[in-house]
Amino acid sequence: MTSKRFPILLPLIFIFLLCLPCQTVFCNCCYRNLPRPAIRAPGQFPWVALTFDDGPHGWETPELLDLLDELEVKATFFLVGKEVLKYPHLVEQIIQRGHCIGNHSFRHWNLPRLDRETIYLEWSYCNQCIARITGKNPRFCRPPGGNYSRDVLLAAEQAGLYTVLWDINSYDSGEGSPEQIVSTVTKRMKPGSIILFHDGFQSTLKALPQIVKAGEERNLSFVTLDQLFFR
Ligand SMILES: [Zn+2]
Repeated sequence: MTSKRFPILLPLIFIFLLCLPCQTVFCNCCYRNLPRPAIRAPGQFPWVALTFDDGPHGWETPELLDLLDELEVKATFFLVGKEVLKYPHLVEQIIQRGHCIGNHSFRHWNLPRLDRETIYLEWSYCNQCIARITGKNPRFCRPPGGNYSRDVLLAAEQAGLYTVLWDINSYDSGEGSPEQIVSTVTKRMKPGSIILFHDGFQSTLKALPQIVKAGEERNLSFVTLDQLFFR
């Protein structure tokens, strides 16, 4: 009996032993299907994306919108759902002035600490707040603080969103002076770059004209994420 089973078991044991050291390979295979956040675009065009997180804000967003008009550049605003509910007229303004809107979650909580269903609701509620005003769901999302996990990425995909982070952090929400912000950004800015700023800081407004000037001197155009990824 044993001798009859042996020829069947032998190849199975052999395959099992072969697979043991390859367990990490199997794990990588599983993760290969996980959506990856975009950090920058390939850079075949001389385009750069300015992105502004955390708005809309009652006072600061109109100021930022006027400045972007003055500089004749387009940008992307990652909006927080609960703020969208407070300032729907500003969301309309962002769209009317040709900018792109992204989803920055509903409550701006640290998403990896939440369970997958709650994360999905964060994305989904924010989508609904934006779509009620603009007529369509945003394409892009950015988790608060750029903090993500497998569940954050999967829940975003489930909500029809493409996760976008950045390759240049302007550090405009800390103690950085306008000069430091300009230096941090212009040193690293190149075709395909996605630059992280925040809506709501005077230092950002003071730094932007010099950043745009430096970009234009290098023949870079400032475009929305829609243009950067889909045109
Ligand atoms: Zn944020």
